[in-house]
Amino acid sequence: MENSFDINNIVRENVKLMKPYSSARDEFEDFDTADMIFLDANENPFQNGVNRYPDPQQGNVKVVLAKQKNVKSNQILLGNGSDEVLDLIFRAFCEPKVDNVITLPPTYGMYGVLANLNAVENREVLLSTDFQPQVDQIVEAVDDNTKIIFLCSPNNPTGNSFSEESVVKLLHNFKGLVVIDEAYIDFSEKESWLAKLNEYPNLVITQTLSKAYGLAGIRLGTCYASATIIAVLNKIKPPYNVNELTQLRALERLKDTDKIKSEIVSIIAQRDELLKVLIEVNFVEKIYPTEANFILIKVDDANKRYNELISKGIVIRNRTTQPLCENTLRLTIGTEQENKKLMEVLKQL
Ligand SMILES: *Cc1c(COP(=O)(O)O)cnc(C)c1O
Repeated sequence: MENSFDINNIVRENVKLMKPYSSARDEFEDFDTADMIFLDANENPFQNGVNRYPDPQQGNVKVVLAKQKNVKSNQILLGNGSDEVLDLIFRAFCEPKVDNVITLPPTYGMYGVLANLNAVENREVLLSTDFQPQVDQIVEAVDDNTKIIFLCSPNNPTGNSFSEESVVKLLHNFKGLVVIDEAYIDFSEKESWLAKLNEYPNLVITQTLSKAYGLAGIRLGTCYASATIIAVLNKIKPPYNVNELTQLRALERLKDTDKIKSEIVSIIAQRDELLKVLIEVNFVEKIYPTEANFILIKVDDANKRYNELISKGIVIRNRTTQPLCENTLRLTIGTEQENKKLMEVLKQL
């Protein structure tokens, strides 16, 4: 089926009409900046490394990302964590109190929080018992005001990725945006949906430097989509949303691809070790397949086991209140030593 996606049908009217804030750094199109005197932004002129406003378009970081991810710079938007990116997507496309989005619990809690914050109805369509999207039910939940479907793949907290077939069906049949949150893609053997970016005009992919890239503290989230979609998000983003320290630190880390790869390999090896031990723990009733840097398990009594682990000095995530997740715990993969300690304690309980 041909998708009749048209960005003009989904951008909010006020966003279409608004004139973006033009910062001093935006207005000055740099030619050769080396010898120029900058008296345009009311900055303190004494150099300390960060006395100047950062590049609002994060050009240097985007050049590196564009190359690594095989996209164009104008297909990238950066934000203060993916949380900011997701918020911008809501604000660009969802009319408060009119539009709605679809999310698939159990999943990442921020989609629902951002829907609430932006006064956008969140239509929840549960995943199936094997944690796959129920495409027919999703399509049924869509109406003329449905702007976005959020897919988290690999999904948090379940750890699995969504079948290619379901994702393709949604991309084809839905006239709004399909946002695929790939926060954990680097731990999966599956290919990123980035490879399909130019095939689907309604595809938006978010990734983050917070997980596999080891930079949760600097807050850098990435969004990839058509240049048309990115231009809309760029128009509404706060001008200096990614600070200079973050841009510098991200650049440094992005160039260290070998180190990032070896850390991912180590985390996956530790995940496999933990999986082997979990099979033998008598209170573990189910271990869910994982393609992320965490494992979801079903236990006899999640609250009890959670508290026991806390008393041994190990903090995990209790997911028992989430739909389809009764008595489940989510364990993040730590270092070899941390994992060893966790495995010892689990065997003792
Ligand atoms: C951790 C996580 C993120 C990352 O959010 P940041 O704001 O980039 O740190 C995004 N999506 C999911 C599903 C996550 O689990």
